[in-house]
Amino acid sequence: MALRVQKYGGTSVADIECINNVADRVQKASDQGDKVVVVLSAMSGVTDSLIGLARQASETPDKRELDVLLATGEQTTAALLAMILKSRGYKAKSFLGFQAGIKTDKTSGKARILDIDGENIQQTLEDGYIAVVAGFQGADADGAITTLGRGGSDTSAVAIASSLKADVCEIFTDVDGVYTTDPRICNNARKINKITYEEMLEMAILGAKVLQIRSVEFAKKYNVPIHVRSSFNEEEGTMVVNESSDMESVIVSGITLDMNEARITLKRVPDQPGVSAKIFTPLAKAEISVDMIIQNTRSHGETDLTFTVTKDDFERAKEISQKVAREIGAPEILTAEEIAKVSVIGLGMKSHSGVAATMFQALASENINIRLISTSEIRISCIILAKYAELAVRTLHSAFGLDQEK
Ligand code: ADP
Ligand code: ASP
Ligand code: MG
Repeated sequence: MALRVQKYGGTSVADIECINNVADRVQKASDQGDKVVVVLSAMSGVTDSLIGLARQASETPDKRELDVLLATGEQTTAALLAMILKSRGYKAKSFLGFQAGIKTDKTSGKARILDIDGENIQQTLEDGYIAVVAGFQGADADGAITTLGRGGSDTSAVAIASSLKADVCEIFTDVDGVYTTDPRICNNARKINKITYEEMLEMAILGAKVLQIRSVEFAKKYNVPIHVRSSFNEEEGTMVVNESSDMESVIVSGITLDMNEARITLKRVPDQPGVSAKIFTPLAKAEISVDMIIQNTRSHGETDLTFTVTKDDFERAKEISQKVAREIGAPEILTAEEIAKVSVIGLGMKSHSGVAATMFQALASENINIRLISTSEIRISCIILAKYAELAVRTLHSAFGLDQEK
């Protein structure tokens, strides 16, 4: 008998027929004697349309009330699944985030889970029930409803799995597992059987939305085995686990694409100690996180300073930068929103050279100009023009020998 946490994403609960399919799977696990906690997303498109409604209600929706609104998407699916399971004669009970003991900080819209009091769920399982938990939500210390950021149901599931010491956290989605790149962009993408937390974390950070970043951080920290798999077939998916000796030794394991960044360049910044702090401190105070930063020194004591932020933060970052530029005497600001970040990821890069050269040559062979480059021990990222994004992904996928054999 195993304890399984099963999370189903938006497309897997898109309508009653889909929720009935979910019920079939849950029922199967339960019939095998497993204890099951189900974590659900909202029906696909619902979170977006709730955000749309909020924007109609107010240009700048109050963050607390927005969380109350967004949490209803997951409340709906949790109730529907519990109803279906009960009507089939199973013992099932739905839980909102706070009822499942999910305690978060107060950052509305992207709250972090601080602690889970799993007692309620534990007792429910011991009483022979299937627990159905609304994903993506918790409550802060004052009891206010919070949400965990887009894609946050993954994190709800991993956190619950960790608190219950579940045998596995299964993430059911609309693809068969984690692929070498987004299978919707490259039809030569290959399914990866096993991937390390470290590589999966880089992939998530760099744009592969199949798992929310925080869910992987959580799984890595608390050693929760994740199985990413399709809710539409019975295939084995991808295990996200610690590095082990039976893993394929590849230099590059995946390519990612992130279309959600924008670039800001402050031209002719005085080349003096303290100017970078003057630029980045107000951005940090505004809770804007900066991704890439490049400084090019020009002659005559001036430098150009370029950085990227997410598109959501772009307008605010631009306003702050314009203000700082005036204060420090930088005469010009350039911005670009039509950019894409392509990245090559692999643990093998720690011990192999030449990956950057192969990446740059492959992009050059398609005449794709690289605007910015950044690296870590296990990845290289390039900013290019958005219109070349998909071509770049496919080109790099072949250049690193990742294409599946046909
Ligand atoms: P869910 O609604 O189930 O949470 P998401 O849309 O959040 O699903 O994540 C699944 C999607 O992630 C896939 O449909 C796929 O397009 C995208 N994706 C991006 N990169 C990858 C990758 N490397 N492997 C698998 N899927 C990926
Ligand atoms: N419904 C939320 C979203 O669309 C959370 C999730 O699906 O994981 O982002
Ligand atoms: Mg998701």
